[in-house]
Amino acid sequence: MKTVFPAAAPTLIPVVGADAAFPVRRIYCVGRNYAEHAKEMGFTGREDPFFFSKPADAILYVPEGETGELPYPPRTSDLHHEIELVVALGSGGRDLSVEQAAACIYGYAVGLDMTRRDLQGVAKKLGRPWEVGKAFDFGAPMGPIYPVERTGLLEKGAVTLEVNGQPRQKGCISDMIWNVAESISYLSGLFELKAGDLIFTGTPEGVAAVVPGDLMVGAVEGVGELKVKVVA
Ligand code: MN
Repeated sequence: MKTVFPAAAPTLIPVVGADAAFPVRRIYCVGRNYAEHAKEMGFTGREDPFFFSKPADAILYVPEGETGELPYPPRTSDLHHEIELVVALGSGGRDLSVEQAAACIYGYAVGLDMTRRDLQGVAKKLGRPWEVGKAFDFGAPMGPIYPVERTGLLEKGAVTLEVNGQPRQKGCISDMIWNVAESISYLSGLFELKAGDLIFTGTPEGVAAVVPGDLMVGAVEGVGELKVKVVA
């Protein structure tokens, strides 16, 4: 059927070493998945994983070696960085076992779960949804996808972020409270997962604010580097 106006273009992320792109379906994010970050946000212990979403068109794709420009979002004065390993699914399903979940992984990328912390704080306090804090335009910068054939299953490796050359965040994939396969497995009990889904797997400690002019350089060992400048 014809559309009454042109349909929005799908979000496509280039795949390293391939001449085809990864079409994004949904973006799920895991909350408080590193113990030290959970502590800095005022929580302790191994609670069940919880999730929130961002729209696929919130992605700001940044080719490796280039510097992306992130427009400082409106209605905030406390924009935080959260550097994260992003997992891309090549297949999905419901109620996946941990082993089945691992087999759904297509590849990995470096991503930033940018957060309007002040708006998220108000939402938490009032028991409101997190969308205004998390799901804003350009709120999900990420680099290209490295297929799992190139990286192997990532069970360890540094997750780091520098701002203007100064270290801000440093963690290890092995420090996750719920590892990647466990998170996918749990998530598949809540939603039917499908090829094209991305999962931002949580951030290590050290989240803090950025302002226009700041240059963020994030990295996940084996998955490259992500450079993003905040612009007014
Ligand atoms: Mn996050």
